[in-house]
Amino acid sequence: MNKLLFVILAALSCTAAYSQSDRWQQRAKYQMNVDFDVATHQYKGIQKLVYTNNSPDTLTKVFYHLYLNAFQPGSQMDVRSRTISDPDPRVKDRISKLSPSEIGYEKILSLKHNGKPLKYEVVGTILEVTLNEKILPKTQHTFDLEFEAQIPVQIRRNGRNNSEGIDYSVAQWYPKMCEYDYEGWHANPYIGREFYGIWGDFDVKITLDASYVVAATGYLQNADKIGYGYTNKDVKHKAGEKLTWHFIAPEVHDFMWAADRDYKHDVVKVDENLDLHFFYQTDTLANVWKEMEPLAAQAFKIMNQKFGRYPYKQYSIIQGGDGGMEYPMATLITGHQNLGGLVSVAVHESIHSWFQMILGTNESKYSWMDEGFTTYAQNIVLSELFQSKSDPQRATTNSYRNLVKSGLEEPLTTHADHYNTNRAYSIASYSKGAVFLNQLGYIIGKDKLESGMKRYFNEWKYKHPNPTDLKRIMEKESGLELDWYWEDFVGTTKTIDYGIKEVVQNGGKTDVVIERIGQMPMPLDIVVSYKDGTQENFYVPLEMMRGEKTEKLYSKTTLLSDWGWTYPEYTFTIDRPSTDVDRIVIDPSQRMADINLENNTYPSLPKVAPRFKGEKVR
Ligand SMILES: [Zn+2]
Repeated sequence: MNKLLFVILAALSCTAAYSQSDRWQQRAKYQMNVDFDVATHQYKGIQKLVYTNNSPDTLTKVFYHLYLNAFQPGSQMDVRSRTISDPDPRVKDRISKLSPSEIGYEKILSLKHNGKPLKYEVVGTILEVTLNEKILPKTQHTFDLEFEAQIPVQIRRNGRNNSEGIDYSVAQWYPKMCEYDYEGWHANPYIGREFYGIWGDFDVKITLDASYVVAATGYLQNADKIGYGYTNKDVKHKAGEKLTWHFIAPEVHDFMWAADRDYKHDVVKVDENLDLHFFYQTDTLANVWKEMEPLAAQAFKIMNQKFGRYPYKQYSIIQGGDGGMEYPMATLITGHQNLGGLVSVAVHESIHSWFQMILGTNESKYSWMDEGFTTYAQNIVLSELFQSKSDPQRATTNSYRNLVKSGLEEPLTTHADHYNTNRAYSIASYSKGAVFLNQLGYIIGKDKLESGMKRYFNEWKYKHPNPTDLKRIMEKESGLELDWYWEDFVGTTKTIDYGIKEVVQNGGKTDVVIERIGQMPMPLDIVVSYKDGTQENFYVPLEMMRGEKTEKLYSKTTLLSDWGWTYPEYTFTIDRPSTDVDRIVIDPSQRMADINLENNTYPSLPKVAPRFKGEKVR
């Protein structure tokens, strides 16, 4: 290879790592300098944003999120939290009672576009900006912004002095440009949940009292001046002195930090390329956090192997906030839990590194693709960590069944903030989203689901995949047509219910009549156990799939003819007399989320009250 060609190819392959070739994406480069006053919980910030318009469109407006403005009496978040029928107990009416020194705010002091002042209007949690100079396609523009802000008392996710005494959980804290993508602007007001942002690079300097330990998204650049466990050097700080912490975070879509005077800081290596950082208060938590640390490291190893390599060199698990919330390269979790609870939340939030922080779906629109997929992977990882023998997805599937029974279910296409109840949002996003993947494994086969998830990661990392992007990956991987599955299971609340209607002797053979009771059609594995101890799976593909799965789950599988979905019944013949048959079960793997299992078995099982584990969602 000639040298010049090599240099060109090398340069190309560097940029290809963050390729945006499949669909254009905007690009942001943030530089922020923040001076924090721990006496008032207020800070002043200077922000330079270099914004690249990779779209084919000319922009005449831009929008910024001002998330902290949600923590004010009368805000949309406040009113929604008080008027929804099943309020989040962490919020309820707490915002309505905040005094001026307790609220959160982000005030814009000045805004310039390419050096010239701009007019703007603050509308709740969104800054609306009408440009004087248009942003033409494929151009780069600079926005300079000065702001001041106040960290509210801890209500939801961010805030000061949380219930466990962590001084500052600083998330959703700076004016953040809204994402503009192939579907247009996403200037969502901050009402309850879920985020979406522009991929880019952050360079952040935070100056505050030297007695605070800071944990953050990104790599600390001046560890030798900081100390506090970031370096082996013992660095002393004078009382009353202010320290500037300098972090850089490449290829992320947000930046979070936290600060506390009592943080203990542990570092645990996952492997040569990844360090886990743990920040927690040095009280009675030490033992349980120390026990959690190697399990968290093991969780990263399992995820790397099953879902694709975590690409950053660092991840921080930080005590703070009000439960668990995911951010790029870090999470805020509450720390006062037993080992099981602590590992569960640390693992869940860490897995969001894959489903949201690397595969950056628009969470507002597709909360099931980040919460659901995270829950699915969490179930697998926890099952491995604690060497559980039971089906890791069973409780999640039962939680979905309970939602169906409640009558509160809404389609997964519902915007995360617009579900009528918090319960419908939670179970749809976390449980039905997990069921979606588990059941996809039933439709296309476990092997294809596993290879498909890796392919999804590799082809869509650092991008904004949508449901159709995932569908195309799974179709290519399996060779099956899957429109129908996305349309019914994501777009509607149609449910699955198949039953064994009749088993009749037909000469020396046995006819089995299956009926479709639910509105949603599915391919079927019908497993017959014979009295001689052998087993045979009768596999009925759905005609719309235009093919069959190749999964080898059962010792013998007989491929039957397709079932066209409009036929209410389907009959197949077993080549043995009915006296040979011990049992017939529709999908004994129970990956298919049939909402009524009673009619799935022949002879029918004695009736017992359904025993579903309590719904557990986060
Ligand atoms: Zn989550």
